[in-house]
Amino acid sequence: GFKCGIVGLPNVGKSTLFNALTKTAAAQAENYPFCTIEPNVGDVAIPEPRLKKLAEIAGSAEIIPSRIQFVDIAGLVKGASKGEGLGNQFLANIREVDVVVYVLRCFEDGDITHVEGRVDPVADFETVETELMLADLESLEKRRDNLAKKATGQDKAAKELLPLVDLALAELREGRPARAADVPQGHEKAWKGLQLLTQKPVLFVANVDEGSAATGNDFSERVKACAEKEHAAFVVISARIESEVATLDDDEAAEFLAELGLEEPGLNRLIRTGHELLGLQTYFTAGPKEARAWTIHKGDKAPEAAGVIHTDFEKKFIRAETISFDDYVTFNGEVGAKEAGKQRVEGKEYVVQDGDVMHFRTGG
Ligand code: GDP
Repeated sequence: GFKCGIVGLPNVGKSTLFNALTKTAAAQAENYPFCTIEPNVGDVAIPEPRLKKLAEIAGSAEIIPSRIQFVDIAGLVKGASKGEGLGNQFLANIREVDVVVYVLRCFEDGDITHVEGRVDPVADFETVETELMLADLESLEKRRDNLAKKATGQDKAAKELLPLVDLALAELREGRPARAADVPQGHEKAWKGLQLLTQKPVLFVANVDEGSAATGNDFSERVKACAEKEHAAFVVISARIESEVATLDDDEAAEFLAELGLEEPGLNRLIRTGHELLGLQTYFTAGPKEARAWTIHKGDKAPEAAGVIHTDFEKKFIRAETISFDDYVTFNGEVGAKEAGKQRVEGKEYVVQDGDVMHFRTGG
């Protein structure tokens, strides 16, 4: 599965946010079996309103959303890149995630100490990211000599990697994260293979006070401007509110959120934004047994999409019968859509579109 790692300085609201996520996941666990939760890993359903609609039309007995994991990565202190505190473990944990979620403190509270003695979310971001950049620098510098030797010989992989390592080093030495680099076309895969901490897509969570959840505040505005500069995604959340919402049932939650001027839990926005940042999208299968969402990469073709259900489906793919979500709803399901000529028969080269409702035909 895909993982989002939650990072930030101490006392910014990470645990509060993470606990809200796991409470939500625990509430979901009743409906969705097989959801395991480790102490610092929350496995949550991706909120997908279209699924309910599909299930109504198809008369599905069960709704099965796709899922994404959140990992609470505690232990960052200044000097983490030097192995101070839990530094090494912290960095190792980040290496394993697909998206880095920065929780940034955008609330004032005299009772809650800020480790730097002031509320400054942009400076906090820079403090954490500096540690990641230093760790990347060190790991690249360690690798470079050996790689340069190999690249003078016949080692094709080394010949491809060396300029990419130099590209990353150049960025980092300028004080920029690796994700800022302009990667030459065709080398994206090797680039990703460098496995740098600052290559990963970044999402900023501006954790605001309860009163600013709907509007944001001056601090979150600064985070927003920083997010634009950093090509990071951005979500305003009040972790305190989220932890309360997570304990309410659906009706109570809706009422509570409406009072605060919110349409939906901030966690839903957070989860969806993480999903989008990963370049992921959703297609559906729908029948009497279940209505189900499946996660694929944007640009995946029909056989790859089938492979998410079962690896055999990819190998034995023949064709996909496809109805767009809108047509499925407009014509009240598969039969109606088919009669209206809205069911398409697609082959191996079909690029699956977000919201496609699909049937795969496979052969021996
Ligand atoms: P962590 O160290 O980053 O995991 O931070 P915690 O989640 O433990 O939060 C530190 C303290 O800040 C706790 O006492 C939280 O209740 C409090 N806190 C978290 N979010 C908010 C918020 O939005 N407003 C206020 N006033 N306090 C918050």
